Amino acid sequence: MGDGLEWRTYTWQPAVVGDVPARHVYLGPVRPDGEPVALVCGPQLPARRYPLEHPARLWRECISCGDRLRARLDVPVIEVSLPAYGA
Ligand SMILES: [Zn+2]
Repeated sequence: MGDGLEWRTYTWQPAVVGDVPARHVYLGPVRPDGEPVALVCGPQLPARRYPLEHPARLWRECISCGDRLRARLDVPVIEVSLPAYGA
């Protein structure tokens, strides 16, 4: 499968799954609208691209997709603690 780096390509896919809008992830480059894609968290649905100004781009991240993607990419979770203003 290519140069072995293909799995590092992923696409955020806003979708409403079980009445919950969220930004999910599927592996690989952007697919044409309507092509079935498998979300990292499980469900399969047709790919759909949203314009940059569409509010779906601001939906919360699917926790399952995000966690599995970061684990797959071997990206550590970085905890950031910032002092509150005036503290
Ligand atoms: Zn998901």
